[in-house]
Amino acid sequence: MLMPAFELHKPVSIEEAVALARDLIDSGQEFDWVSGGTDLIPNYKWHINTKPHVISLAGIEEMKSLSMTEIGAGVKLSQLEVSDEIHPLLKTAAGKVASSLIRKSATLGGNICLDTRCFWYNQSEDWRRSIEWCHKADCGTGADCRVIPNQNTLCVATYQGDMAASLISLGAMITLVGPDGIREMPIEDFFELDGMKKNVLQKGEFVCKVTFSEEVSKRVGAYKKLRVRETWDFPEAGSAASWIPGDLSSLRIGTTGIESIPRSHCKEIEQHANWNDEDSIFELSQAVQKSVKAVNNTILSPRYRKAMVSVLTRRAIEEII
Ligand SMILES: Cc1cc2nc3c(=O)[nH]c(=O)nc-3n(C[C@H](O)[C@H](O)[C@H](O)COP(=O)(O)OP(=O)(O)OC[C@H]3O[C@@H](n4cnc5c(N)ncnc54)[C@H](O)[C@@H]3O)c2cc1C
Ligand code: SF4
Repeated sequence: MLMPAFELHKPVSIEEAVALARDLIDSGQEFDWVSGGTDLIPNYKWHINTKPHVISLAGIEEMKSLSMTEIGAGVKLSQLEVSDEIHPLLKTAAGKVASSLIRKSATLGGNICLDTRCFWYNQSEDWRRSIEWCHKADCGTGADCRVIPNQNTLCVATYQGDMAASLISLGAMITLVGPDGIREMPIEDFFELDGMKKNVLQKGEFVCKVTFSEEVSKRVGAYKKLRVRETWDFPEAGSAASWIPGDLSSLRIGTTGIESIPRSHCKEIEQHANWNDEDSIFELSQAVQKSVKAVNNTILSPRYRKAMVSVLTRRAIEEII
């Protein structure tokens, strides 16, 4: 698999990255951001939606902050998994991403912005050509989706980033920077239920950092992940829970690996506010399971993955109490 040719740009400041993006947009040129490259580069080698320009964010020191209340998008997952400066839940979650070698390059920002995945899409160019492509990488043919057939407007590729569930459960805010300035939002609002668009990033915008309120240090959290091979597989389902011990209303739950977006489960928690014993925790976990819809585009069956959401959620809650 040969890497397609592209021009690599290496800004060293946020300002320079934004200016580069603005110039490329103004001259009608397409580009991608890259951080660790552990997702983008394999996709490029498979000739999936490649662009003529790639802007690397790896050399921007401003994006490498690391503390209990702020983590830069450029921080490596290998740093997170050994850091005593961040919330222990993020340390655990980072250690469950891919393999130790991949985590040495992979970044938090790249993990949050991970491309959505589907077994009709994450394949080599020859393989995809042999089935006449699919809507998300149609090579200009207007091919249909293979999961929801006879249409080429909807893509339901699955979001399989690990870190999002834990970030949601810790109440993280995400900061975006681009030619139109800075935006900040709760991390669950960053994702869009569309396997192609994936998130709210506008042209030229990138993720700069995630932040947390001071109360995060009081939270106790757990993340449970279902995967085929412990050594490096993506989550087939994942659930994270955190709370401030003794305060039932502080519970937050995030799930990932099921749909095109990771989800926050505030509504289900509100409806089961008295989750204080085995039966009520079971009911809450079942409600979380009912609120998600899995489709048939990853290794394990959607029915099994969905059923496991309840199991993982119950285990996460049991661990934090
Ligand atoms: C064998 C293998 C196993 C893997 N297993 C897992 C797993 O278990 N769990 C998991 O979550 N991931 C897994 N991954 C995927 C990937 O390695 C990780 O998600 C990693 O954290 C991605 O980070 P990165 O910095 O390498 O991203 P990159 O490859 O640099 O970028 C990923 C995507 O995000 C965009 N991007 C990068 N940084 C930014 C930014 N700051 N702002 C906006 N957009 C940005 C890029 O344009 C690209 O679309 C696996 C990958 C491989 C090859
Ligand atoms: S969900 Fe459909 S359009 Fe999206 S990647 Fe899979 S087959 Fe392609």
